[in-house]
Amino acid sequence: MSPIKLAIVGLGKIARDQHLPSLAANPNYQLVAVASPHNKLEGTPSYPNIETMLREQPGIEAVSLCCTPQVRYEIANYALEQNKHVMLEKPPGATLNEVAGLMDLAQQRRLALFATWHSREAAAVEPARDWLIGRKIRKVQVTWKEDVRVWHPGQAWIWKAGGLGVFDPGINALSIITRILPQPLVLKDAELHVPSNCETPIAAELTLQGPGGLPVRAEFDFRQTGPQSWDIDIETDDGHLLLSKGGSVMHVDGKQTVSAPDREYANLYARFAPLVRERRMDVDLAAFRLVADAFMCGRRSVVDPFIE
Ligand code: NAP
Repeated sequence: MSPIKLAIVGLGKIARDQHLPSLAANPNYQLVAVASPHNKLEGTPSYPNIETMLREQPGIEAVSLCCTPQVRYEIANYALEQNKHVMLEKPPGATLNEVAGLMDLAQQRRLALFATWHSREAAAVEPARDWLIGRKIRKVQVTWKEDVRVWHPGQAWIWKAGGLGVFDPGINALSIITRILPQPLVLKDAELHVPSNCETPIAAELTLQGPGGLPVRAEFDFRQTGPQSWDIDIETDDGHLLLSKGGSVMHVDGKQTVSAPDREYANLYARFAPLVRERRMDVDLAAFRLVADAFMCGRRSVVDPFIE
């Protein structure tokens, strides 16, 4: 089978850190072009926008959108209208209705649409899911606290409406718990802390409830300095599970049972190729819906301005 002719849209941090190396290592793809308003990729035809790129290179079969969430829908919609398969960085859009529209269009045209959740590909997520099967879960605590100045330098879009603020990393934690815990999880309470000079929260606390009244608490904070926390603690009737380092390490009752090198984006591209070949869709919105619910029902408090 010949490699899928793929183009990257949005050549920013995640495209360079993860997408380019994963594509280079996967013989199922040939990176044929890049579209990004201000960036070019040396050695690869680069265009300022998707319209010019698809006009100049009609042979492109699929696009991988690594742009900011606020522009994702227009670009994805255009790509589907041009009969291109689409892979979406997380979050898959800025609103639920945008993604519903993309799903309808992909289905009508029998095109692949893949809403990726890279944290679900972390090494310990599936082992944790398997370990939990058959155990009674009593309590879950999510602690996702990182230093925004270290991980998102200069990314002004995060602080604009649709950029999600601290839910940009927080949605990664939600993508894991919506994979490993019994569903549905429903939002019972949310507190959003919004800097006085920003449109999105810098910290948030969520109280969720799973089947049988399972209590799930999540704390997200962008103001963490020193050690960073990407942990999910799960108490069961038969032991304690800790997922740490963003889902890549697992401990059971204090003993490490899983730790493996990062293959998150390699796995995402491995999953996208068969979706393209079989013209299928993989869109799970459970984590995105919880974020939407938090924005819809959460109380807001104004906190100190954020100065980078
Ligand atoms: P970023 O470094 O700010 O890059 C975003 C890129 O989007 C910019 O380089 C910009 O290109 C491009 N862009 C903006 N408007 C565009 C348009 N109309 N057409 C094409 N490209 C456009 O942000 P990032 O960290 O890479 O994040 C991008 C997405 O990946 C976000 O949804 C984020 O949640 C997700 N993600 C990020 C990380 C991470 O560690 N950073 C991890 C996982 C997922 P120009 O610079 O050329 O204008």
